[in-house]
Amino acid sequence: MEIPYKIYLTEEEMPKAWYNVRADMKTKPAPLLNPGTLQPMGFDDLRPVFCDELIRQELDDTTANIPIPAEIRDFYKMYRPSPLVRAYCLEKALGTPAKIYYKFEGNNTSGSHKLNSAIAQAYYAKQQGLAGVTTETGAGQWGTALSMACAYLGIDCKVFMVKVSYEQKPFRREVMRTYGASVTPSPSDTTAVGRAMLARFPGTTGSLGCAISEAVEAAGASGGTYRYVLGSVLNQVLLHQSVIGLESKLALDKYGVKPDIIIGCAGGGSNLGGLISPFMGEQLRGEANYRFIAVEPASCPSFTRGKFAYDFCDTGMICPLAKMYTLGSSFIPSANHAGGLRFHGMSPILSELYHEGLMEARAVEQTSVFRAAEQFARTEGILPAPESSHAIRAAIDEALLCKQTGEEKTILFGLTGTGYFDMVAYEKFHDGKMQDYIPTDDDLSAALSQLPKQP
Ligand SMILES: *Cc1c(COP(=O)(O)O)cnc(C)c1O
Repeated sequence: MEIPYKIYLTEEEMPKAWYNVRADMKTKPAPLLNPGTLQPMGFDDLRPVFCDELIRQELDDTTANIPIPAEIRDFYKMYRPSPLVRAYCLEKALGTPAKIYYKFEGNNTSGSHKLNSAIAQAYYAKQQGLAGVTTETGAGQWGTALSMACAYLGIDCKVFMVKVSYEQKPFRREVMRTYGASVTPSPSDTTAVGRAMLARFPGTTGSLGCAISEAVEAAGASGGTYRYVLGSVLNQVLLHQSVIGLESKLALDKYGVKPDIIIGCAGGGSNLGGLISPFMGEQLRGEANYRFIAVEPASCPSFTRGKFAYDFCDTGMICPLAKMYTLGSSFIPSANHAGGLRFHGMSPILSELYHEGLMEARAVEQTSVFRAAEQFARTEGILPAPESSHAIRAAIDEALLCKQTGEEKTILFGLTGTGYFDMVAYEKFHDGKMQDYIPTDDDLSAALSQLPKQP
């Protein structure tokens, strides 16, 4: 059967339930712990911070299929199903016998896959009768996605934006404000955590971990009218992002195609987790065999050089402890241009799968990532986000390996978003001013030596 350039599902074919890969995992991801008592946190412990229904999803590691409410499915229809693209043009340019497919999640105004979880989280906040939600954003994609979702549902959205991005990406900020969100540069003087940070490091340009602390504090100070929401890392976010994998699998199944290798970039793990979930489920049930590859920046190598340990998700050390591959919550990655991949930790689900050897990981340097991005833009036409381009790098490398060996492998990768707001990074690359910063072992051990006491 001739495979088209783009496989589109119909709206009726879109998934009606998210798939929870934890249901098929023999060893479940470790529970969140209270940082004071080191005891697992249950529903009641998490209620002050998170929305009730989202906590249920966070804690549910046995229900395989969780229905997607009709209102969320209707919102999805504004920009989904997303196309699964056969990269014929890239294959030709590479001269590879490999067959390359990518699932493109950049066809919405936020420019990334993050909208898939933003609408779900905003929906449950509204269901609970909350006035709004607080969050952090680094590069800005998550804050944009959440402000779109909140605008649609008519609830308030308060975004703490890492100061360096706030200043360097004013257009992202204005998109969020267009959707009605309030955007505060972090660290700010509106929270105790922010004030302490400013006193200790005057002139700091902030970090994702600090912005998280501020957003959590702001929700806590709202008298119960706001909750904090997070765009990656958490189990519930991977659950929502399973729509990516479910749609991909259905599209491939229609043409009888089975991928050999599935690749995704990994920041906090949500797009990769969502893409691989249904395929990993098959593997865990012994029904299929795939190679899964997580691609991370060499400047922030959580999987490849981090430790599998309990750690804070934030620098303020007020969030629950999660067991994950981490570089330490005090690790501040160098100025890598893939802002969405600059988080010190990794999804507990993916961390457990990686720990068990069910997934591979590799770290790539940013100049080679931008070379891949440029090659992709020139052949496939789409201007990729720097984050997504990590997956492109690995897909191209695997396809070139096939060229050497003559193997006709089928490669599927996640193209998480577009790079229109990242042109300063592209400019640096074109001007030859982009550097590859790789932390030394000493840099890493400084932050890893400050991991909290382990249970
Ligand atoms: C946020 C983001 C990522 C990384 O986040 P994950 O949770 O690891 O998926 C990747 N690509 C884009 C475009 C993003 O916005």
